[in-house]
Amino acid sequence: MRIDLHTHSSVSDGTDTPGELVRAAAAAGLDVVALTDHDTLAGVEAARAAAEPYVLEVVPGVEVSCVVDGISLHLLGYWPDPAHPGLAAELALNRDDRVPRAQEIVRRLAAAGHPITWDDVLRHVADGATVGRPHVADTLVDLGVVPDRDTAFATLLHNESPFYVTHHATDPAEAVRLVAAAGGATVFAHPGAGRRGRLVDDDVVVRLAAAGLAGLEVDHPDHDEVARAHYRVLAAELGLLTTGSSDYHGTGKLQGIGACTTAPEVFEALRDRAARGSAA
Ligand code: AMP
Ligand code: FE
Ligand code: FE
Ligand code: ZN
Repeated sequence: MRIDLHTHSSVSDGTDTPGELVRAAAAAGLDVVALTDHDTLAGVEAARAAAEPYVLEVVPGVEVSCVVDGISLHLLGYWPDPAHPGLAAELALNRDDRVPRAQEIVRRLAAAGHPITWDDVLRHVADGATVGRPHVADTLVDLGVVPDRDTAFATLLHNESPFYVTHHATDPAEAVRLVAAAGGATVFAHPGAGRRGRLVDDDVVVRLAAAGLAGLEVDHPDHDEVARAHYRVLAAELGLLTTGSSDYHGTGKLQGIGACTTAPEVFEALRDRAARGSAA
């Protein structure tokens, strides 16, 4: 069994459509793939339809943008009902506020002399997709300002950059409760991905575990061996599951789909947690 529980389609900042992503998952020999676009579950139906010819389970998921003490973090919600009013409203807040935020990033880039407009960026965002910095990055590549997404993030778009702007994001304990109320289970995405910006302290993980967090994403392309070992120990101490996933973004990142995977027994335990709700 090969299980990848973290992927992005063009419904957020990945470059594959949900259908293309599912075909890539099947071609990579995956048995289970979770579609976890940023702040939306809008691609899940198309992904499931595309999976019909294959023996491939598509798990409905979402990567919820969160913030605590001014530090941004991501929580993966699995199997939530996308129609749950509380969760749907909160995801909409995150999505909607990403638009003026991306516009402000563009305004600052333009003010600094980079030849970029909001219309340029819109050409890189699929209809109805969650807007993110990767779309600004793709636009900068297109305009010849930088050679690739990675360079855009390393030079102009990183979290400490003068062009960086925050957006509304969910309190993580609230995200855990909302996903549980919507019938899902939550995993802390790439808790040790320090290259992206500041990391939250372990006591935040302790608090989220108490709020009903089900697991930590331990095996992730942005985690070195030290981070993996650290979060494996923390998960054991707190009774949390440990997942592994690629965080595939199509051609937007180097890692292929299935680059990291989750053990079948962990996947089944996660499914049980979603079925049981937050009564941990
Ligand atoms: P945003 O959600 O708009 O704040 O943008 C964050 C997203 O940018 C993450 O979800 C990643 O997909 C992407 N990202 C962060 N760092 C990099 C990088 N170095 N190269 C490519 N994509 C990145
Ligand atoms: Fe992303
Ligand atoms: Fe993430
Ligand atoms: Zn992700």
